[in-house]
Amino acid sequence: MRTHSAVDVIRAKRDGHELRDDQIRWFIGAYTAGEVADEQASALLMAIFLHGMSPQELAVWTDAMIRSGVRLDLSSVPFPTVDKHSTGGVGDKLSLPLCPLVAACGAAVPQLSGRGLGHTGGTLDKLESIAGFRTDLTNERFVEQLSEIGVAIGAASENLAPADRKLYALRDVTGTVESIPLIASSIMSKKIAEGTDALVLDVKTGDGAFMRERDDARVLAETMVGIGDANGVRTTALITDMEAPLGYTAGNALEVRETLEMLQGGGAPDALELTLALAREMLHLAGIDADPADAIADGRAMDRWRDMLVAQGGDPDAPLPEAPLVETVTADRDGVVTRIGAMPVGVAAWRLGAGRARKEDPVSPSAGVLLRVARGDRVVRGQVVAELHADDAVHMDAGLTAFSGAVTIGDEAPPTGPRVLERISAH
Ligand code: URA
Repeated sequence: MRTHSAVDVIRAKRDGHELRDDQIRWFIGAYTAGEVADEQASALLMAIFLHGMSPQELAVWTDAMIRSGVRLDLSSVPFPTVDKHSTGGVGDKLSLPLCPLVAACGAAVPQLSGRGLGHTGGTLDKLESIAGFRTDLTNERFVEQLSEIGVAIGAASENLAPADRKLYALRDVTGTVESIPLIASSIMSKKIAEGTDALVLDVKTGDGAFMRERDDARVLAETMVGIGDANGVRTTALITDMEAPLGYTAGNALEVRETLEMLQGGGAPDALELTLALAREMLHLAGIDADPADAIADGRAMDRWRDMLVAQGGDPDAPLPEAPLVETVTADRDGVVTRIGAMPVGVAAWRLGAGRARKEDPVSPSAGVLLRVARGDRVVRGQVVAELHADDAVHMDAGLTAFSGAVTIGDEAPPTGPRVLERISAH
């Protein structure tokens, strides 16, 4: 006997009623099993987009997504587990130095990560620019590696929150991505299913971010922190500025190169500031009293990075791929760099070949943007402000067009502010 009908659930939400727990659990289960059609799920997503969700609906919706697949059991890992998730930005390579850094301080970092889409890059694409590096770890190997070296970065397997996999693909083509409850439940269902004890969220706001407005970023951060804490995952969110790209590279191997500099104590000050801020939050949630700056200074973070590469088949000493074409962009006047737009830099890196428009597109490991100036730097006319790297002339032309106007030069030094804007946490 049928106990539920998709049309009844859609109608209820369409008319602004709160869905019952059993309706939500049935709908998510039936959709994951292929018993509810895509057009019906699309209609429900649009109704949720328009009416939002109550806290009770959101809690049950997220729980149903987690239960649609497996939840990893990390109880055999002999260290406190803590992960980080970023809502995505331009030049956001911070998982690369951060995960081994936090592992070097005594926590285990179980990071299941994603690929880049559009103007934002993905951690897996960056790591795969390293010769031999594999991200397709089995769940068993993932847990084993965490016990051995305290860090593993892999691709989420098919059986982790499969409801989100289907729903996210549908949202992408039905104009229902930009809904705070749908984003929050999508991100948190995957992170909770990953099995981590604690989580630090880097919620970006500004020109290059998903949530351009600070108020929206705050609501998203509060919603995700609430979901994490309610599910036994101690969660802290930092709202951080994404007006300008993070660090000075956007592009896969270029970002790995910058990571190596950061692990050697160099790199751009803003990227290092945020890496250390996130590391401190992660260690705090893991109950570890250590200063991550020490682990960079004494080389432990770099050692752990190399251990991670070797454990996942990568060669830490192999040269990184380099693009055959490099063009420079120069300053058109004397002055001071007042703005570097995250969005044009991200779109340029994408057009140069570093990113993809569809999930199945390939990416270039070597393409991207290398900024040679930072906000506030004085420049003279003709000075190189950026290098654009591409594999062929078609991509180079597209990248040059997208980059035009990315760097603004004016007369007055701009006000500078910190990357971390707000902290949201009960811990
Ligand atoms: N990233 C996700 O994983 N889900 C969303 O809904 C948006 C960004």
